[in-house]
Amino acid sequence: MRRLVLLSLLLSGSAIAQDRPAISVETLKTVTQTLSSDAYEGRAPTTPAEDKTVAYIIDRFRKAGLKPGNKGSWTQDVPMVEITATDVRPFTVQGKGAAGESPITLDYRTDMVVGTYRVTPRIDVKDSELVFVGYGITAPEKGWDDYAGVDVRGKTVVILVNDPDWQTMGRDGPFEGRAMTWYGRWPYKFENAAKHGAAAALIVHQTEPAAYPWAVVQSSWTGPQLELDEPGDHADQSQVIGWLQQPVAERILTAAGRDLATLTKAAQTKGFRAVPLGLTLSGGFNNTIRRQASKNVIGVLPGTSVPEDYVLYSAHWDHLGRCDAVDGDDICNGALDNASGIAGLVALAEAQAKAGPAKRSIAFLAVTAEESGLLGSGYYAQHPVFPLARTVGGVNMDVLNVTGRSKDFVLVGKGKSEIEDMVVPFVKAQGRYIGEEANPERGGYYRSDHFSFAKLGVPMLDGGSGEDKVVGGKAAGKAASDDYVAHRYHKPADEYDPRWDWTGALEDLTVYYQLGRTLADRPGLWPNWYPTAEFRGIRDKSRKNAQ
Ligand SMILES: [Zn+2]
Repeated sequence: MRRLVLLSLLLSGSAIAQDRPAISVETLKTVTQTLSSDAYEGRAPTTPAEDKTVAYIIDRFRKAGLKPGNKGSWTQDVPMVEITATDVRPFTVQGKGAAGESPITLDYRTDMVVGTYRVTPRIDVKDSELVFVGYGITAPEKGWDDYAGVDVRGKTVVILVNDPDWQTMGRDGPFEGRAMTWYGRWPYKFENAAKHGAAAALIVHQTEPAAYPWAVVQSSWTGPQLELDEPGDHADQSQVIGWLQQPVAERILTAAGRDLATLTKAAQTKGFRAVPLGLTLSGGFNNTIRRQASKNVIGVLPGTSVPEDYVLYSAHWDHLGRCDAVDGDDICNGALDNASGIAGLVALAEAQAKAGPAKRSIAFLAVTAEESGLLGSGYYAQHPVFPLARTVGGVNMDVLNVTGRSKDFVLVGKGKSEIEDMVVPFVKAQGRYIGEEANPERGGYYRSDHFSFAKLGVPMLDGGSGEDKVVGGKAAGKAASDDYVAHRYHKPADEYDPRWDWTGALEDLTVYYQLGRTLADRPGLWPNWYPTAEFRGIRDKSRKNAQ
């Protein structure tokens, strides 16, 4: 084997990592099956299942040959606060004054879900005026402001999901056409509503632009909600954040003498002005508050000549824990999401350790609370164990491909960084091609942990098998991905299946291995963001300060 490798090195005249990495399918299967078994209760952070999960990952990291990554410790504490809304009485929407028709009652879970970022035992909104603010976007660089000319302080804003041009077929448009931008993501919308002083912010759920059905909103937004435990108890946030079922939003707008389709159309046009609805919202709930630290797990393979530079692999270990029961099963096991990603992390750790230390250090980060809004990675990025300016770049893994080989390798949020160029030869060497994202409107790049690092300048790859399957082509790939989103994503049915085909995951992991190895063995190589990418300025500044 060794001789073959040397030969291929000589033939290609290139020293880029050609070694066939020792990525173990057995590891992929065992780790995924173990972490997604009912014994791990769906891996909710700060529950007893966390201790079990963290212990298992540490054990696998140690056996793989890694060293503890955080000054002799395998973990980094992530201070969290858990808020559980209780006694949520139905909210009411009412016409102002005597003209108002009989109030519309919004039942919790079926009509709407509500919660809060505020760490406070009681939330009440009373007679808060409703204002439709379109997509709820303030983007001065695009000359777009859905809050222009309207004062929403103390009011309730009703917001559309995604961004204004998501129905465009191509990538042209003020918000990258069909691709979702950060402005289309719900965390942004709530953040911007709070900035404008809204007392409540409600997003209208629509399955296609949200990319998931109401059942996902219902299971993800009810029960304990986690956030980082920060000074100030998030008092700068809106009192209420939540989602409305589309038919309910339609009823509310009808009561206001408006209609959702017409307002949506208006909101997609530059110069749109927010529309006061002449209705008010009232309602409240109690909060049970629990403070507790969760943990990121960090292992490292120290470098030989430039150990102070780090290449990063990351994946989130958490999932939803106990969730809404389906057929009597109330454990959201999260086998694909993201026991499989942790399995990939362990398999890469084994393979990299087996290949021996590289010149730079390679870090393996299993982060907590991704499902609660990228909290573990966000905390790490704010309190980095390894300086971000010395973190070369890396790969995040969230859901591996278990449906067999794909002809395409898709770069999610393509067009951002030179890391993308680096993976092209590895992908081509497998006889595969770089494919287009099937659903750019889902805003994949902003929906997992690499975004936490990207936001602070570290170029991270989010890429992997596309839907063009070796067996069955695009139709088979689309059917598999639609089936996952409709039936298993964030549901108890995301369970381990021994019939899964890991050959596609192996190819993707080989690309991740080769990318990591190349970055780690080439001191002085600092791939950057393209000049047009939103994170380029931050990186240039952070690298400059580090030198
Ligand atoms: Zn995930």
